[in-house]
Amino acid sequence: MNAITATGLRRSYGDHEVLKGVDLFVQRGTVFSLLGANGAGKTTTVKILSTLIRAHAGSASVAGHDVARDPNGVRRSIGVTGQFSAVDNLLTGRENLKLMADLNHLGGAGKIKVQSLLEQFDIADAADKPASTYSGGMRRRLDLAMTLVGSPQVIFLDEPTTGLDPRSRRAMWDIVRRLVADGVTIFLTTQYLEEADELADRIAVLDNGKIVAEGTADELKRRIPGGHVLLQFNDPRHLDAALRVVRNASRDGEALALRVPNDGSVSSLKALLDRLDEHSVLVDSLSTHTPDLDDVFLALTEKVVQP
Ligand code: ATP
Repeated sequence: MNAITATGLRRSYGDHEVLKGVDLFVQRGTVFSLLGANGAGKTTTVKILSTLIRAHAGSASVAGHDVARDPNGVRRSIGVTGQFSAVDNLLTGRENLKLMADLNHLGGAGKIKVQSLLEQFDIADAADKPASTYSGGMRRRLDLAMTLVGSPQVIFLDEPTTGLDPRSRRAMWDIVRRLVADGVTIFLTTQYLEEADELADRIAVLDNGKIVAEGTADELKRRIPGGHVLLQFNDPRHLDAALRVVRNASRDGEALALRVPNDGSVSSLKALLDRLDEHSVLVDSLSTHTPDLDDVFLALTEKVVQP
């Protein structure tokens, strides 16, 4: 079942058309990452899906509620957390969470929920200190914990780890994975493609107002050139034999190695190995190299990046 469905979303600011027909399908209990250059329209998309602004055309539903016809239903089902923290610095971590529990009318159950979130998010030791004394990582964890007081089914995470050190970033990733294991759906925007690679089940690239590519990280990486297989030989005669039978192979520097363009799919690897086998070419070892998401992002979006 889809947690988020959007078809033909359009939105302009004045005569600047930011979204030109965006379609999105996000399965429940998965992480979906929307990538795009600065100004591509990611925040605009999140704002439409979280009912902060209306689309000028198209339709969308989140957690089974139509964003235009039932915005309150959407709001009851989602959490939004991002770059601009909702944490009140003058309050302690516990008080911030308590405030959210009161806003969600949790009554007596609120106290238990607050304590459980403090422990789950590793802020119990600092629970009664003012949030102004928290590190950046603690503040982000508190911010996300505050979103979870209302038990949302869908969470929009806008750049959740920007500015965090690698350890805090990994702690945040673990939290996201736990949430997804519990059935929550995460809609993630991030500047760090490594983060999308780590967390996202599916990734969409927004460019020039449209989704230009969508798939798993591996599918996207296979779409662009640059992937190759490195064949390692322990005898120069075998390398020469391989050069004769494999198309487009090139020597890899001084090493006894050949670089063969390849998309890294099982079928193309099998075809390459079968061909070498047919000609009795002995390969010592091989490794595959696929482009990373940075390569994908640059290849798919570079045409419109402003100078
Ligand atoms: P970033 O990665 O920089 O956060 P983004 O992909 O989230 O960018 P948006 O914030 O959705 O992009 O903005 C898309 C475009 O719409 C930008 O050109 C921006 O200047 C413009 N824009 C956004 N909000 C408004 C607004 N309220 N009024 C006018 N233009 C806006």
